[in-house]
Amino acid sequence: MITTDIQLIKAHLEQGEVVGIPTETVYGLAANIYDDQAIAKIFSTKGRPNTNPLIVHVKSMEQVRTLVAEFPPKAELLAKRFWPGAMTLILPKSELISPAITSNQSTVAIRMPKHSTTLELLETLDFPLAAPSANPYNRISPTRAEHVEAYFPNIPILEGGACEAGVESTILSFDGDEVALLRHGAISIEEIEAEVGRILDRTSSESVHLAPGRSKKHYSPLCELIISYEPLFMLSAVQDKKVGILWFNEVKIASSKVAINHILAPSGSFKEAAANMYDALHQLEKSGVDLIIVERLPNYNLGRTINDRLERAAAK
Ligand code: AMP
Ligand code: MG
Repeated sequence: MITTDIQLIKAHLEQGEVVGIPTETVYGLAANIYDDQAIAKIFSTKGRPNTNPLIVHVKSMEQVRTLVAEFPPKAELLAKRFWPGAMTLILPKSELISPAITSNQSTVAIRMPKHSTTLELLETLDFPLAAPSANPYNRISPTRAEHVEAYFPNIPILEGGACEAGVESTILSFDGDEVALLRHGAISIEEIEAEVGRILDRTSSESVHLAPGRSKKHYSPLCELIISYEPLFMLSAVQDKKVGILWFNEVKIASSKVAINHILAPSGSFKEAAANMYDALHQLEKSGVDLIIVERLPNYNLGRTINDRLERAAAK
């Protein structure tokens, strides 16, 4: 059920239910952080292993201070600069945070989402919301209320339109004065380094449980997907398959072997490409193609984030 009624969503959350909420990144599957049974429902609904911790969504800096044991100066600087926004900070947790949320770690992932409807919802609640993305484990992330409803027809979903950023948040951790990137996201390395100088890249570190968004296979359509700088070269090896090509900003060369040519961002902007990426994958999957070939983007700025997601969607 998709609704615009914030009070109704509030009532479900207060009864310990899981609901769909819009954010600027992707839709979330949200529950009261102080209700361990509700938190357990998030994991069971998604089919997510309970070793994969959740992100806590807050309405204010005051609320954050109750949830963390420490707020390193660089973390606070980044929060002030980028919140509300698509940046998740990993911080030492206070005793208010249940180990069910953090998968027994001493740190908690926190962000303030930049979506007016969800900020209004958070404002009416006495508790923050834990919310991972509202997709079954490893499937394509949802960027519209309809995507969430198709996955979970029985949960109430707060309507918030199409997600503006369209890719998950950037995740950062702090080690003394060092800032480390754990997951590429909607805020680019370039934007972050402009504020705090060079940051460490820990996106390919082996401790996958620290950020399941980094597990090799993720964000995947049901059909096969490959990513390449040369989609038509990949096509030459394909036989007897219904193929869709997802081009970056234009159809470079047309081929009669292709059933669907889909353009990600006619303007050529990375922001537009990010906003459209998951919706394009949902559409191509729904069209019944056997194989999606995606044109790889230039590897800087948000192009890096989009390539990261598409590589994981392509992983077997
Ligand atoms: P999702 O909301 O589905 O994008 O998943 C939440 C992301 O936050 C996952 O990649 C988590 O591993 C990451 N995360 C949550 N808590 C922590 C933590 N304490 N340390 C590192 N990563 C975390
Ligand atoms: Mg996710």
